[in-house]
Amino acid sequence: MPGPFARSRHRRPNPLWCQVLVLIVAAAGPRLARAQQPTSPAVSAHAREVHAAGMIFDGHNDLPWRLRTEGDQALRKFDLSKRLTSGHTDIPRLRDGGVKAQFWSVYIPSEHKDPAITVMEQIDLVKRMVARYPADLEMAYSADDVERIVKAGKIASLIGIEGGVAIENRLSLLRTFHALGARYMTLAHNATLDWVDAALDVPRHDGLTAFGERVVREMNRLGILVDISHVSPATMADVLRVSRAPVIASHSSAFARCPSPRNVPDDILKLVRQNGGVVMVNFFPGFIVPEFGALRRKALFDIQAKFPDPAARRKAMQLWFESDAARPAKGAVRDVADHIDHLVKVAGVDHVGLGSDFDGIVATPVGLEDVSCYPRITQALLDRGYQPADIHKIMGQNALRALRKAGEVARALETAEPEIDDTKPEPLGD
Ligand SMILES: [Zn+2]
Repeated sequence: MPGPFARSRHRRPNPLWCQVLVLIVAAAGPRLARAQQPTSPAVSAHAREVHAAGMIFDGHNDLPWRLRTEGDQALRKFDLSKRLTSGHTDIPRLRDGGVKAQFWSVYIPSEHKDPAITVMEQIDLVKRMVARYPADLEMAYSADDVERIVKAGKIASLIGIEGGVAIENRLSLLRTFHALGARYMTLAHNATLDWVDAALDVPRHDGLTAFGERVVREMNRLGILVDISHVSPATMADVLRVSRAPVIASHSSAFARCPSPRNVPDDILKLVRQNGGVVMVNFFPGFIVPEFGALRRKALFDIQAKFPDPAARRKAMQLWFESDAARPAKGAVRDVADHIDHLVKVAGVDHVGLGSDFDGIVATPVGLEDVSCYPRITQALLDRGYQPADIHKIMGQNALRALRKAGEVARALETAEPEIDDTKPEPLGD
């Protein structure tokens, strides 16, 4: 999930007024256009070969939250074995994209009234989703699991919790989520919590509190990757000071190329390099194209003037995102490749990965419309002179290495005492 303005929207048949609106918005296009329009590169046979030989391991996909918000907890509405006409993800498109392993996000909004229970329900949903398609998906809980499942020709499916609000300030819940299968946790979403500062909220702790440090230590002991996406740079620095295992940024891009508070600054990238961690590029245009914010605000301003009704306005914004007028704001494959280049330059090729945020983002770059599009990144990197071995690292080997190392650190800490909650004695009762 990228942020407060980027909830999933999915295509439905457009009424006539919407189609008229597209024409109005498209007419505004030339005023917004950059001199050079983004393009989608064709994928060569060589690039397809390089891509197919790699471990494509994406760090963040919000399909489970999409299923929940679309009212499909029963998994009856969307048949993921078929090519869907909405959303970013289904099995045929995952196969087209060469995806071998996926962290499915079990997201929870910071302000949700039942965080822990809802995350448990989402974990249950992921497991039922994976069980529904046994020929294509299988749950993975370790790096060895991932390799075994990929070898068997299936897509290794892992669980990542998005939002430390899930543990409701209890280390016992963190352990419970590990037992249920969570293998990373994003420490915060968009709101600062009692123990951790978020990137998009007012800082209250200058990073992690003492309890926040205990959370990180317990995650190390359990073998849950600590995810520094969504947290403030001070929190990132604290995590990198405390963590004994590699950290990940499961869906964040480079601040130096797009100064969103959700991106990772260069000084942190250097620390990630020392830590052995991985920063996984988010495809959301707001995190890769510096002009996105201004162009989106301009479109919103025009649309607000025409559509006072909030629902009509939301629909109009979605249509704008899908129109040619939005192309300069959305960016393209080359913008994502620019972020990869920067991360490689500062953090090193061993510390870069992919964390698309598909099905959690309201817009995608041109050429990266859904999970079938990953081969275009391989093509873009080949075009820039990357060697296949380095492309394979970026596409997923680095993520797999971090997961493996986190498991090794957990085994080394096996005899360490768990971090225990400071709970008061319960009354005996009747
Ligand atoms: Zn997110």
